[in-house]
Amino acid sequence: MLDKTETKTFLDDLFDQGLLIETGVDGLYGRSGLFEAIGDGFQALVSRYGAADEAEVVRFPPAMARSIFEKSGYMKSFPQLAGTVHCFCGNPADHVSLLQTIEQGGDWTAGQKASEIVLTPAACYPLYPTAAKRGTLPAEGRLFDLLSYCFRHEPSQDPARQQFFRMREYVRMGTPDQVTEFRASWLERGQALIGELGLPFTVDVANDPFFGRTGKMLAINQRDQRLKFELLIAIESEEKPTACLSFNYHQDHFGKTFGLTSADGEVAHTACVGFGHERVILALLKHYGTNVKRWPASLRQTLGL
Ligand code: ATP
Ligand code: ZN
Ligand code: MG
Repeated sequence: MLDKTETKTFLDDLFDQGLLIETGVDGLYGRSGLFEAIGDGFQALVSRYGAADEAEVVRFPPAMARSIFEKSGYMKSFPQLAGTVHCFCGNPADHVSLLQTIEQGGDWTAGQKASEIVLTPAACYPLYPTAAKRGTLPAEGRLFDLLSYCFRHEPSQDPARQQFFRMREYVRMGTPDQVTEFRASWLERGQALIGELGLPFTVDVANDPFFGRTGKMLAINQRDQRLKFELLIAIESEEKPTACLSFNYHQDHFGKTFGLTSADGEVAHTACVGFGHERVILALLKHYGTNVKRWPASLRQTLGL
């Protein structure tokens, strides 16, 4: 029961201000023009911090080939988060029975067939096979700039945990040295960037939510090897701050899986830095308040607001 004296949640506040728009599903929201304008300012700031590297810009739709998704091993590690696209592929008679099922309140989705498309779980997934197709990496490796809506089935009333959210990424491919140098440099730059926004943060080692019992081992291993770092900001709770940026070293995982080769003939290593688009916007709204007109003038200027 909701106590009458209980204060409104941050999500309620965002709905009331029209910054996020309810759809009837937890974690699936519309965004207002102001919300988007803050995000545009943030993306431009990320681009300024990354500009010197001259990353190659690539944009994919928020979906990818099921065959590539299967090859990536995502279902081994994160079956609980995946979303697939199913479609009606029947004949007119099937259509009649489909409509009857809907009318009777039955499960009309049971007849839907898996299409060749699944929803993108992280912006970098569609990139690896595309890069591998170009052949052996040049001596300097490659660097890409990505931005995509991503899907994860993790419905929540925490506005910072959405089912469809945007992820900006820089993805580096090359030798272990090139790739670890990239990640170390973004660990610094990421902190400077969030510092410029005046947001209090911490940085910590982290692990992905690998599924099941073997998953526990994978998570421990990922932490032990310090393969994932997160930059955390308090949004929904002070005790459990939210990962707003993440810095991932995949070693040769994607290189092996998708046949990416370095100029020296070795399996290429990869790393990515991911920026949670909505999470940074929400961190700003939480920290400075939902009345953006009252934000410090210098911050508004930084974000072009
Ligand atoms: P968490 O531990 O909070 O679930 P994560 O470790 O799953 O985060 P990553 O897989 O590293 O996050 O994804 C890259 C970035 O995408 C994160 O740093 C975060 O900013 C953002 N992100 C991840 N999941 C969500 C989500 N459900 N809603 C909004 N942003 C998200
Ligand atoms: Zn990535
Ligand atoms: Mg997660």
